[in-house]
Amino acid sequence: MSGVSAPPSPRVDIDLAKIEHNARTLVNALAPAGIRVTGITKATLGLPSVATAMASAGVARIGDSRVANLERLRRAGVRSPLMLIRSPTPAECERVVALRAVCVVTEPSVVDALSAAAAQAGVTQDVLLMIELGDLREGVLPHQALELSRRISLLPHVALVGIGTNLACRNGVVPTASQMHQLSNLAALLRTELGIVLPLVSGGNSANLGWALAGGGPRGQGITDLRLGEAILLGTDPVTQSPIPGLHTDAFTLVATVIESLAKPTMPWGERSVDSFGGSPLVSDRGTINQTLLSIGRQDLELEGLVAPVGMRVLGASSDHLVLETPVRLAPGTEIRFSVAYAGLLRAMTSPYVANEISVPALAG
Ligand SMILES: *Cc1c(COP(=O)(O)O)cnc(C)c1O
Repeated sequence: MSGVSAPPSPRVDIDLAKIEHNARTLVNALAPAGIRVTGITKATLGLPSVATAMASAGVARIGDSRVANLERLRRAGVRSPLMLIRSPTPAECERVVALRAVCVVTEPSVVDALSAAAAQAGVTQDVLLMIELGDLREGVLPHQALELSRRISLLPHVALVGIGTNLACRNGVVPTASQMHQLSNLAALLRTELGIVLPLVSGGNSANLGWALAGGGPRGQGITDLRLGEAILLGTDPVTQSPIPGLHTDAFTLVATVIESLAKPTMPWGERSVDSFGGSPLVSDRGTINQTLLSIGRQDLELEGLVAPVGMRVLGASSDHLVLETPVRLAPGTEIRFSVAYAGLLRAMTSPYVANEISVPALAG
C-alpha cells in the first residue's frame, strides 16, 4: 500500500493468490476421479492475470464464453489451450479458427462455417458437441447426437474431440450421477459407432461439484473435464449457495467511497409514488440513523449478494448511489469494502466505472 497515488474508486480488489489456491485445490480434488479442470474467466471478462493464476494452478485449459475475451487472453500472451464455451455465430467462426481454441457447437451450419474457415486457414478446428440433458439452454437432444457427430466426423477440417453438457444455469436443474452416466454412455456410443477417440467428456460447471466431490466420488464414470468459474473465483457452490470447504470466498472485494454521511430520519416525507426502478420500498420508522451514501449504484453492482462490513447495512440503491446505514457518520473519502456474489462480480467487472486492482501473489520459495 505504498502507492504514490490513491487507488481508483470504485474498484474490485483481486487477490490472485486466493484464485490460484482455489484452482489448485479443485484441480487436486478432482484429479483422482480422472477429471481435469477448464478454468472459466468470463466473470472477469477474460482478465489475463486471472487466467495466468488458474494456469499456474494446473488447469488443463482456459475457457470463456466470448470470442473477444479469448482474443484478449491471446493478445496478453496467455499460452494455455483455450476453449470457447458458447457457440460462435457463423460470422465469428474465422476469429475462432484464428484462436486455435476448442469450440463448442450445436448447429450443423455453424460447424460448416468453422470447417470453411479452417479450410481457408489450412488447419483443423477442434469442436465439442453440447448435449441437452434437461436444463433447456444449449445443446442437441441426446437422440440427435450420433447423426450430428457422424456429420461432423465426415468434415475434413473439423475434428470432434468431445461432448459436453451444461446444467443448472437456466432452469436450475441439478447435475447428478444420472446425467453424468447418460453423457459418458453417449460418449462410449460415439466412440464405438464412429471409431473416434473423443478424449473430452465435459460434464458441466461449478454446479457439478456437489456430484464430483461427493463421498464415493465419480471415479470411473467417464467424465474427464469440468468447466469451473464461480467455484474458482468465489469459492462457492452455485447449487447450495454456500462456501466450498477449503476455498477462499474473498478473492474479490468491491470497494466504494463515501460521498455523504448524515444523520437522517428513516421515514421519507411528502407524497410517495415509486422509486427510480418502479419499486415501492417498505420503510419502517426507526427514528434517526446515520445514513451514508457511496458513489456506486445499480449500474455497477447487484444488491443481491452484496455484503457490507459488520455493523453496516445496505438500505438500497439507485443508478449511481448506494445507501448504507452506518454506526457512525463517516468522512467523505472513506472506503467501504463489500463481498459480492456471482451476479455482483459480473456486474462490477462489466461496469466501465469500476476499476480493477490486482494484488500479485508473493513469489514462492
Ligand atoms: C458460465 C459457464 C460455465 C462456468 O460456470 P460456473 O458456474 O461459473 O462454474 C461453464 N460452462 C458453460 C457452458 C458456461 O456458460
